[in-house]
This record gives sequence, structure tokens and C-alpha cells, in this order.
Amino acid sequence: MNHKLISLKAGLYFVATPIGTARDITLRALDLLASADVIAAEDTRSMRKLLEIHGIPLGERSVIAYHDHSGQGTRERLLAALSEGKSVVYASEAGMPLIADPGYELSCAAADAGYDVTCAPGPSAALMALTLGGLPTDAFFFAGFLPNAQGARRKRLEELTGIPGTLVFYESPKRIAASLADMHHVLGDRKAALCRELTKKFEEVRRAPLSELALQLSEAGVKGEIVVLVDRARGETVSEADVEADLRAALVDNSVKDAAAIVSESHGLARRKLYQLALQIAKEG
Ligand code: SAM
Repeated sequence: MNHKLISLKAGLYFVATPIGTARDITLRALDLLASADVIAAEDTRSMRKLLEIHGIPLGERSVIAYHDHSGQGTRERLLAALSEGKSVVYASEAGMPLIADPGYELSCAAADAGYDVTCAPGPSAALMALTLGGLPTDAFFFAGFLPNAQGARRKRLEELTGIPGTLVFYESPKRIAASLADMHHVLGDRKAALCRELTKKFEEVRRAPLSELALQLSEAGVKGEIVVLVDRARGETVSEADVEADLRAALVDNSVKDAAAIVSESHGLARRKLYQLALQIAKEG
């Protein structure tokens, strides 16, 4: 038995669950799951399975389904349990709750009502990707999932061009090829890493520039769960005058669009910004 029964004071306890390998759960998380008065989960089936794997009996308890759109009703029910002095554990389907997962509304409601809120931390795909992706971790920006529609996705990427840190995206295998193509288009040819199936049997980390990843994924799709890391813009070292000179040179033999693409590739700068500049230079003749 890996867990022990502990006496818990009233409060909301967020618990991180594995992102693949079932044994990636902390002993404290198991203690909390074994001892809490109430267990709530985003996915009741995977919670039951997790309890079963680790030999934790549910006893008289049921697993309450909760996500942030469950609405007032379920949240009120959990808050009522807290008001009765009960300990409530909440876990999302995988990884850390609230990280591209439910729990935010519940956390705010419990804290606003004056209850203790704490967390038994554990794995999160974003942090594991940062550990393995080979990009700087001194500063990073968690961008979560990009929008589905291309226009909205490119607009969001535009907003992220100047972030002075590694960008972290969650992505689905269905959209990964389109997203990588848009990242390349908007962010330029930055260093990147595609981190897949972390902690699982087919774990894979591909470190390559965006152009290469986009090409690979356009040729052959991938399965599984994915995190994409993208390096911050490295254009600071190129002066505006150099960029303009390169654009002028490229415009001699190329269209505005192609000239912007060529200079974007060579300096790792956002293509759209260069397109505007190239257009202006071309107009001026
Ligand atoms: N709360 C989770 C966390 O802390 O990482 C994230 C939940 S979010 C709904 C699910 C997304 O996280 C997946 O689509 C994928 O982008 C990423 N993800 C989760 N598990 C992963 C894994 N084992 N390997 C790679 N990415 C993963």
C-alpha cells in the first residue's frame, strides 16, 4: 500500500494526476485521495481507474463530476461540503488542474468564500516539455491551445511575436501541421521543439527549426499528445538598417511577398512585419 490515511482539515485540495505513466503521482496526492471526505474530478472514469491502480478504496464516497462549465449547481455542492467542514479533493483528467484544464472557477469561489485552498503538485506537460525541449527556460510564456480557425490562430500568433521568452503551446495531432505552418509564417524560422507522448511508451522530442517541423508534419502526421515550444524572437541583433538593406536587395529579383519570406527566413523575423516594410519600399520605388 503506497498511501496512508491522514487527518485532513476542511479545505479544497487540488491534486495533480499523471500525464501518461500512472506511477507519476506523488505519495501526498495518494494520501489526499485516500483521506478526503469528498472527491471531485473532471473525468470520473479516469479518477476511478487511478484509484483502482493505486489500491485506494472509495468506500462510501462517490466521485463527483466537476468542470468549470458544470455550472453553479455542482460548484455550490462542493462549497456546501466545505461549509460543513469537509475536505474536498479535486483533480482534472491529467496533469495539473487549472493548466489548460478546469479548476479556476472553483479555486476562485472557494478562496473568495474564505476556505483554505492548496495543491499537491505533480506533472504538467508544459514543464516536462521545457525540461526536454532544448530551449531557454529562464523565461517562458504558456500560450495553451491556439484557436482552430486559421485567421484567429494567426492573429493570436501575431500577439505573441514580441514575448521575450520561450513560447509553450498545447496542440492536437489533428491541427499540428496547420499550426506549425502558421507559426512558421507568423513567427519566422525560429528554433522549436515538438514534444510528444511525454512519460509514455512512444515519448519523442524533435528539436528543429519551425520550417523543418512544419515540413515534416506536412509530409507525415503524428499521433498522441503534443507540446510545441518556440524560441523567442532573436531579431534584436539585426539592426533595422540591415533588415531594410536586405529587403531592398531581395526586392530586386523577387516579389514583395517572396522578398519578405526570404528576409524572414534569414533573420528569424516575423514575415508579416517584413511584408509591410517590403511593400513600403516597393511603393517608394
Ligand atoms: N493539465 C494538463 C497539464 O498540466 O499538462 C494539460 C491538460 S490539456 C487538456 C491536454 C493537453 O496537454 C494535450 O492536448 C497536450 O497538448 C498536452 N499534454 C498532456 N499530456 C501530454 C503528454 N503526455 N505529452 C505531451 N503533451 C501532453
